[in-house]
Amino acid sequence: MSDLPLTERNQRPAMARKKVYLETMGCQMNVLDSELVMGQLRRIGYELESDMTRADLVLLNTCSVRDHAEQKVLSRLGSLTKPKLMNPDMIIGVMGCMAERDPESLIEKMPHVELICGPNELNKIPAMIGEIEETRSRAVALSQDFKRKTTPLERALDYDSVEALDLSREPDPGQNSLQAYIRVQRGCDKFCTYCIVPFTRGLERSRPASIIVEEAKMLADRGTKEITLVGQTVNSYIHQESGLPIKFAELLSRIDEIPGIERLRFVTSFPGDFDIEIFEAMRDLPTVCEYLHIPVQSGSDRILKLMNRQYTVGEYEELIGKAREIVPGITLASDFIVGFCGETEDDHEATKELIERCQFKNIFVFKYSPRPGTASFKGKDNDVPDKVKRRRNVELLDLQERISLANNQSFVSEVFEVLVEGPSKAAAKAREAEESPRVQVGWRNESQLVGRTRHDRIVVFEGREELVGQLVSVKITSATALTFHGDVIEPVSLGR
Ligand code: SF4
Repeated sequence: MSDLPLTERNQRPAMARKKVYLETMGCQMNVLDSELVMGQLRRIGYELESDMTRADLVLLNTCSVRDHAEQKVLSRLGSLTKPKLMNPDMIIGVMGCMAERDPESLIEKMPHVELICGPNELNKIPAMIGEIEETRSRAVALSQDFKRKTTPLERALDYDSVEALDLSREPDPGQNSLQAYIRVQRGCDKFCTYCIVPFTRGLERSRPASIIVEEAKMLADRGTKEITLVGQTVNSYIHQESGLPIKFAELLSRIDEIPGIERLRFVTSFPGDFDIEIFEAMRDLPTVCEYLHIPVQSGSDRILKLMNRQYTVGEYEELIGKAREIVPGITLASDFIVGFCGETEDDHEATKELIERCQFKNIFVFKYSPRPGTASFKGKDNDVPDKVKRRRNVELLDLQERISLANNQSFVSEVFEVLVEGPSKAAAKAREAEESPRVQVGWRNESQLVGRTRHDRIVVFEGREELVGQLVSVKITSATALTFHGDVIEPVSLGR
């Protein structure tokens, strides 16, 4: 009990919280990892800071999939040299795939980095910060040993330690909890020849279904309406429960039953691992959205073989034919790599033809970027000039834009169920200006809102703020290749 009179105690300033600048690059896995790490940092007294030069702790959650992503991190770290000199207590940390891939060269290039933490060790970050503060020496946590282990028992033992981060999940009460990611598996053992992921995140391990379902229930209780299950190849999910295998379709079905969850999505899927039960779950379970992200990477069998993708173009097309047959109205998105080692103009033409035939909703195109440590880096020549890669990249995007535009315009006048996510980018910017102390003009009742259909189409429309977080019906009035514009016609009743 304090001896101070109550009035005096109330006037005492609250203990200053430490500030962390946390920047995330790369995939949904990293977005989720950053959220979970931030939850742990909040517990030891940190709050977010948007200006990295004013932070006590700078953490970059990194991606190693392309060289460009790594160069961006190096440039960020370089720009911190001066702020670190001015404030020697500032802790600079690199977490995620780049930390795991080549920590030695990272330390050599950026000696002011004091915290290096691989993606399977993130639950150790609070302890690492304590260690650095105490000793002022570098703290490193990597899973190098983990990568050498291959037996199921060793994987299971390792699993317990990496699971700790997800088990510590505690959503920030101040954050919008409408949508959330849940991890269903870690790592990947497909070993596509261009990909660094199996070397940075380790081999594939699925999380127990019961724990995933509990996490989904906890999020639903806190207002989450849309859950996206994330993993490198979610459809290959499998976990033993009481001696019986639980597969991905069963997992979807268990989450579908949770009251409060309106929509269930998943990314990313591997074409070679699909079973029909997943498509049936997409058709039959009310929450599972009719949208599938299913990367193909190339329209040439020769290139797919060089990439070790383990399927042919014909098998891929057969699969998406099945998806369309079983799940009415399903939309498909895909990924492509242009300029992979030895890719000829004929291979590129075959990819364009595949895109024409598949009529994707949208595609993501990446220029091949050789990653040290991968099979294609060691054994193949990066022989397609960058200029050619750029041209092929543009050609695929132009082709898809034409397809998306024609496809989207065919939906004008139709009505879609839209989950309202918040103000559109333009409205959010305008609101920021309004909220600034210099321009206090108050809130507007009507704003430009943005939401998504079950098929992952973005819809922009005018509406009242109270609609955020609700399902509404929107009639589409116009469409571009990327966005629908429409009018709300009525609120759709909530709950099932
Ligand atoms: S499936 Fe291939 S591209 Fe995807 S994470 Fe695994 S190895 Fe990488």
